Amino acid sequence: MSSWCDLSYLINDQSIFIVILFIPINPEKNKRSVMANNLIKVVVVGGGFAGINLIKSLAKDKRFQIILVDKNNYHFFPPLLYQVSTAFIEPSSISYPFRRLFQEKENLRFHMGSLLKVNHQENTIETDTGVLSYDYLVLGLGTESNFFGMQNVKEKSWPMKTIDEALNLRNTILINMEKAVRAETIEERERLLNIVIAGGGPTGVELAGMLAELGANIARKEYPEIPDYGTHIYLVDAGPVLLSPMSKTAQNEATKVLSNLGVKIILNVAVKDYVDGKVMMADGNTIETCTLIWASGVIAREVPGLPAESIGRGRRILVDEYNRVQNFNNVFALGDQCLQTTDPKFPNGHPQVAQVAIQQGELLAKNLKKIADKGDLKPFSYNDKGSMAIISKYNAVADLPKFSIKGFVAWFIWLFIHVIPLIGFRSKVELAFSWFFSFITNDPTLRLIIRPEANKQLRVQRQGESSTSQERA
Ligand SMILES: Cc1cc2nc3c(=O)[nH]c(=O)nc-3n(C[C@H](O)[C@H](O)[C@H](O)COP(=O)(O)OP(=O)(O)OC[C@H]3O[C@@H](n4cnc5c(N)ncnc54)[C@H](O)[C@@H]3O)c2cc1C
Repeated sequence: MSSWCDLSYLINDQSIFIVILFIPINPEKNKRSVMANNLIKVVVVGGGFAGINLIKSLAKDKRFQIILVDKNNYHFFPPLLYQVSTAFIEPSSISYPFRRLFQEKENLRFHMGSLLKVNHQENTIETDTGVLSYDYLVLGLGTESNFFGMQNVKEKSWPMKTIDEALNLRNTILINMEKAVRAETIEERERLLNIVIAGGGPTGVELAGMLAELGANIARKEYPEIPDYGTHIYLVDAGPVLLSPMSKTAQNEATKVLSNLGVKIILNVAVKDYVDGKVMMADGNTIETCTLIWASGVIAREVPGLPAESIGRGRRILVDEYNRVQNFNNVFALGDQCLQTTDPKFPNGHPQVAQVAIQQGELLAKNLKKIADKGDLKPFSYNDKGSMAIISKYNAVADLPKFSIKGFVAWFIWLFIHVIPLIGFRSKVELAFSWFFSFITNDPTLRLIIRPEANKQLRVQRQGESSTSQERA
């Protein structure tokens, strides 16, 4: 019987060949393909802020085997999505492939797939690409848009929570500008140019500011037919102020800067429906538009298989002070997806922001190591470092723990805070370069309309046409 080591028949005249054959084989590297099965197996679903920060810290402990499951093959940075959707930066500046991140990490594996169900009795999860078993399961799937039961809004508006959605929105904005140039009636032109943003929180404010910048700095130069682009942006909120979770200083500054840029701010009115290209408001008014952007509410992603008593407000998974899901010993939930009411400073749960997810991920890594050591676990306590929002290109507001700042200084701090956490040297350099370039030229060059889905439809259509013509022939 021959095996990989039974190469004696090659010795003598082919011995040099054998040497060459053996040089590239690095036994250390080969260990990576075979994982010891006495490791503690942790399956982490969701490679967002929570999941990635947990993994970064836990992977250093070789007692653990970690499998990350994510429906995408990349981690991305949601706070900058609005700059992708307004064509100011590329998606690659704010995203990074998981497999690149896991290079040379022996105890890390990536499984691309979407979670379908947790079978907690068997300690397995089902994904659309296979079944995985676990010793410990960590859920960090984040949230999705909440349309509050408005079916038309769900089907026809543009949410902006993922890279795919940001790119769809970018295409829509650019295509509508092209169509507006060719519009034959004033009504059609208005409908194409009007953009209604529902939701005056940080995402809505940042989007409105960036679209106004697009009008002031780019449309003016590139679309001479639309000198009035910036006056077509409507920001609608059901509450009495913009940026409701932030300070009065931040709220007033946002209102002042956006109004000066020409954004039409409509407060105390909820969007109720979206029918035949008309946004219907609760006060009976309507706005004609082809583009309703939904930035108005979130709901935690559903995890089938968890019992109803483990689910709380906003579909968030109820967890104890160690982020352990209620009624479970080996299932944890982190970040936006969980609701933790044990932190004395946040009795109604934490805000759904990046820092909570990061800090919970880091603490759970420590606690999992403590479980392995049979030590005492540490409860989670959120260290609130403040909140920020960018209002326009060089203007931001920041609520720090002791005071608030606004303007260019706040923007500069915001810039650093948003570049530093980006994973990967290349992303940081790329992003810093994009911003520097748009800073000095006021003219980023990313306004390409690339439509892979449209091309696919065209190909299918063409195939259909050619088979019909063959049939005819
Ligand atoms: C547009 C926008 C702007 C924001 N701006 C800010 C800001 O300025 N500052 C701030 O602090 N916070 C901001 N946030 C909130 C912040 O992004 C979240 O609080 C943070 O991302 C939560 O981290 P997480 O790990 O819980 O979830 P996420 O970061 O949402 O990660 C969830 C992960 O789960 C994966 N996933 C989802 N469904 C499945 C599935 N079925 N199967 C497998 N994987 C799945 C996703 O691909 C993703 O990788 C913003 C959010 C958005 C959408």
